[in-house]
Amino acid sequence: SFPVEAVPQAPEDPLFGLMRAYKADESPNKVDLGIGAYRDDNAKPWVLPVVKKADEILRNDPDLNHEYLPIAGLASFTSKAGELLLGTGSAAAAEKRVSSVQTISGTGAVHLGALFLAKFYKVNGANRTVYLSSPTWANHNQIFTNVGLPIATYPYFDKETKGLAFEGMKKALADAPERSIILLHACAHNPTGVDPTAEQWREIAEVIKAKKHFPFFDCAYQGFASGDLDRDAGAIRYFIEQGFELVIAQSFAKNFGLYGERAGCFHFVAAPSADAASITTRVASQLAILQRSEISNPPIYGAKIASTVLNDKALFAEWQENLRTMSGRIITMRTALRAKLEELRTPGQWNHITEQIGMFSFTGLSEAQVAKLRSEFHVYMTKNGRISMAGLNTRNVEYFAKAVDSVVR
Ligand code: PLP
Repeated sequence: SFPVEAVPQAPEDPLFGLMRAYKADESPNKVDLGIGAYRDDNAKPWVLPVVKKADEILRNDPDLNHEYLPIAGLASFTSKAGELLLGTGSAAAAEKRVSSVQTISGTGAVHLGALFLAKFYKVNGANRTVYLSSPTWANHNQIFTNVGLPIATYPYFDKETKGLAFEGMKKALADAPERSIILLHACAHNPTGVDPTAEQWREIAEVIKAKKHFPFFDCAYQGFASGDLDRDAGAIRYFIEQGFELVIAQSFAKNFGLYGERAGCFHFVAAPSADAASITTRVASQLAILQRSEISNPPIYGAKIASTVLNDKALFAEWQENLRTMSGRIITMRTALRAKLEELRTPGQWNHITEQIGMFSFTGLSEAQVAKLRSEFHVYMTKNGRISMAGLNTRNVEYFAKAVDSVVR
């Protein structure tokens, strides 16, 4: 019989628990600032108009079927996905130094990458520890731990300035044993909303290069952060130009609003060398083996939607417009929230609200203040003081600012 005593009750995922509590709350004033999913100004999920169009094109296609995709996924999707990250004129792509595999969205990409590293990142003397920013997306901890890779952290968020703990970060990367694995958020850092500047990225790359570390980029918000796909891929492109060998986990959940369709990719980019093409082929063959035993082959529909848009000039342009709508609304909400707090003379500095970028803001509110916001004002956010900016809109931003004002005083 199964040793059931070996299975203790696990705690509920805090984020999904929060979502449940919000749903059960009957207050008409309730505000959901928990989960990282885009909402329109009516606090409703937004199906991107370009996704609706692609959906229609697919549904009207008499040849649409539900066959299996190849193990590595839909090639018309993965190739364009890689191009989106690396840019159209990428030398890495031209030199065939990129292996791409379609995954179960960004989570699946991080997982496949973690599994690949757990199996193959075994060089004599190489440190297998994965360094994560403190704080990071909570799932990073479990994904790397689950495949048996040890994790450590580097400082990232400066509580005083509510900006980047740049010196601490560089020092930790410099102090880490050579050839450690360094997880970096490509843009729109989750949960803090704090990104390095272009100049800071250059210095970070320098430290990583000097210590021969291996960069693992997690890119879940390309185009969603600034509204500009190229700008949001700036750090990744810079590292590749510097000749790094690296991996990228790419999600299309946020930038296409394809959350539940689970469209994503994992990319391995080999460094320029005479062996690059052979390395790329070998890596691809091993990724296929891992993929086969994990999920056999990836889901088809989200990839087809993204592929339809990515491979059509007009639809691509429309997608960029949709991205600007989402990122623009979020930036407007940042401005509005900061203005309201400053108007109310809420104690403290609120400049970080507009300086941070992307889906999230690390407000600096304490756990006690967060609890009070929930019990007195029906505002739902994570204990660490993170808010999903997409949960704010023209109707509730003032209510939220007043609630914050009340709990801060
Ligand atoms: N990585 C980061 C930093 C994220 O914030 C997210 C989503 O919240 C993901 C990866 C993966 O999301 P998904 O699996 O929905 O693509």
